[in-house]
Amino acid sequence: MARGSRVIMKCDKCGGVAVIGMPQHRLNLCETHFVAWMREIVARTIHRHRMFAPDARLLVAVSGGKDSLTLWEILNHLGYETEGLYIHLGIDSDGYSDQSQRKAEGFAAANGLRLTVVNVAEVYGCGIPEITWTGRGQRVCGACGLVKRHIMNQAAYEGRFDAIATGHNMDDEAAVLLQNLLHWQQGYLRRQDAVLPASHPRLARKVKPLCRTYERESAAYALVRGIDFVEAECPYAVDASTIRYKLLLNQLERESPGTKYQFYQGFLAAKAEGLFSEAPEGDSADWSTCSECGQPTLGGDLCSFCRLWRRVRHEDA
Ligand code: SF4
Ligand code: ZN
Repeated sequence: MARGSRVIMKCDKCGGVAVIGMPQHRLNLCETHFVAWMREIVARTIHRHRMFAPDARLLVAVSGGKDSLTLWEILNHLGYETEGLYIHLGIDSDGYSDQSQRKAEGFAAANGLRLTVVNVAEVYGCGIPEITWTGRGQRVCGACGLVKRHIMNQAAYEGRFDAIATGHNMDDEAAVLLQNLLHWQQGYLRRQDAVLPASHPRLARKVKPLCRTYERESAAYALVRGIDFVEAECPYAVDASTIRYKLLLNQLERESPGTKYQFYQGFLAAKAEGLFSEAPEGDSADWSTCSECGQPTLGGDLCSFCRLWRRVRHEDA
């Protein structure tokens, strides 16, 4: 081959110019076939994991990023009845939360979809960074996760949705799996799955229809489909422990394509055969109702969300 000449990848389906190569599947695809492939994989994932019925009403948790908007676009294309939920976290480094909200709203408007916005600071008094006294790293993410879960459950319950769909991709799931295995977090390993069933009528079923595709595939899909997403990561993501595991897995993936895929798919297959099978969660008699918000709780009079806000207000006083 002449020096300086470029190798043009060809689509394995039609011979046209490929826009993406997926070495883990030994597959190169052009725009048209890649879009069809992504939709097919998501449809198969929903079916294989019995995520929800064709007539289900889905609440899609959107962050304004590539994964959640790609997911929303695909679910909408597949004909599901969807609504979006954007939670404004009050993270304003470089206007991150405002910018993300604009992207989520722009997508909803462009596609004629309904989006609900919950602004944490407006509803509860302060944004996520102000909740923790250190205002840094994993502590912020811990509080953020708790607040998001509570708001999503509340919105799904009030709106009578059948499930909450989140944009977790295989990179996210494999990184969490590696973290859980390295620390032998048996409880987390038992719970980690493509579907988290509703453990109480007021707690929504959660599904991850992108869990069989890589992060770079959601990004490619968003670009090919012209989805305008927020490119910046949450500034606290650099402190998130899973970032380290993502980097490690990506290194392994470069050396041996398909490592991430086999790791996570192998886990799901082993779970399906009974590995880490769910331990009894405690029967419904263990649940009590939070005296403040009415959501179920497994301990005490207040749920952890209301305890968190009580502590924040107490500290502010
Ligand atoms: Fe929340 Fe942490 Fe994710 Fe940022 S990185 S959105 S603070 S969980
Ligand atoms: Zn509560």
